[in-house]
Amino acid sequence: MIGGQMLRYILVGSTSNIVLYLLYIALTALGVGHKMAMTGLFLLGVFQTFILNKRWTFAHTGDTKRSLFRYLIAYGGCYLLNLSILILFVDHLGFSHQIIQGAAIMLAAALLFLLQKYWIFTNADKPGATGKGVGVKRCPACAKRFNSVDWQCPACGNEPTKIDGFLAFAPELAYEGKGFRPEYFEELTRLETGNFWFEARNKLIIHALQRYFPKFKSFFEIGCGTGFVLSKVRTAFPQAVLVGSEIYTAGLACAARRVAGAELLQMDARRLPFESHFYVIGAFDVLEHIDEDEIVLNEMYKALKPGGGIILTVPQHPWLWSYQDEVACHVRRYTAEDIRRKVEGYVMDAWFDIVRMTSFVFFLLPFMWVSRKLTRRKFSDPLAELKIGPPLNEIFKVVMKLEEMVIELGVDFPVGGSLLIIAKKR
Ligand SMILES: [Zn+2]
Repeated sequence: MIGGQMLRYILVGSTSNIVLYLLYIALTALGVGHKMAMTGLFLLGVFQTFILNKRWTFAHTGDTKRSLFRYLIAYGGCYLLNLSILILFVDHLGFSHQIIQGAAIMLAAALLFLLQKYWIFTNADKPGATGKGVGVKRCPACAKRFNSVDWQCPACGNEPTKIDGFLAFAPELAYEGKGFRPEYFEELTRLETGNFWFEARNKLIIHALQRYFPKFKSFFEIGCGTGFVLSKVRTAFPQAVLVGSEIYTAGLACAARRVAGAELLQMDARRLPFESHFYVIGAFDVLEHIDEDEIVLNEMYKALKPGGGIILTVPQHPWLWSYQDEVACHVRRYTAEDIRRKVEGYVMDAWFDIVRMTSFVFFLLPFMWVSRKLTRRKFSDPLAELKIGPPLNEIFKVVMKLEEMVIELGVDFPVGGSLLIIAKKR
């Protein structure tokens, strides 16, 4: 995404600068002094580019007044720098003002890009969800909304049945259905801990919560599996209300052992019994298992409080599709464009503003590609990709650590095995 931003910035900036530079040549040819001409055009450029860069280049969703204030400070600083350059090089050293002003524009453009990306139009330092709405439950039987600690509907008296000790909202799906095969959860539980990929994904999720939702109070994970993510969220945010859902109660049984004090529910992600309920909802490598992924996103939208947001990870690049995806019961691998359209609601409604989207598993992508293209139907084990030797795992951990550091610096990778998406309810 840094590439896309840079490209859009160059497009906005160069078009604007070419026009302004031609105006500068024209005005000075007409006898306007070069400092006077520069000043007028600088002011014109400020307002012309502010709107374009805010709306389009950086897709900034934060406060307009604050960003305009910072924009003016940045441009003011660059104006003084430009003026000093003209005074020094043209007035005192006698260089040609056409050439010096051309060079000064390039310098100012580079400085302004960095300032805009990291200071003016950063979506990162926005406050977390501040929605004040109470957590509303929606009765799965009569669709009445209610607000109580337990799940008995005050209108129709319906209470979800329990399966294996867990409240079941979609009991017909608890043991079978399309998706991950339940008997793998026990094995998955053992494989996750220490695995380079699961550990790296967890660190990115915790980072996303800390940075983009610093004030969140409740977190709902759809498809929580064995609770590996929830257990890390519990450690990082001991005070947060945690809820996890899973279609298979086998996963919930593993999660119950791992995560202290989380409400674990059996449910279908396409029918969430919540409204305006959570600050943050996460789904990590879940959507690619579900045909109706847009319906799930729609349900997430409804279950979020105003100002709340989602964190998603999905497998990326259809060209990486392999037998491995088939045994894992994936329906698709996403393109960035595909998930962006679905999250932003072009397909069904308008819901989320994407705050951050980056690929990960960038450096290891060539290994991933080779391993996927070479292993053709040699196994039928969906966990085979996780069973790698300890030495390789340690090397991959170091590589992923590097990647985390780059992502935490705010740099987005353009390609990678997976995508991380952070978006806020519109
Ligand atoms: Zn009811």
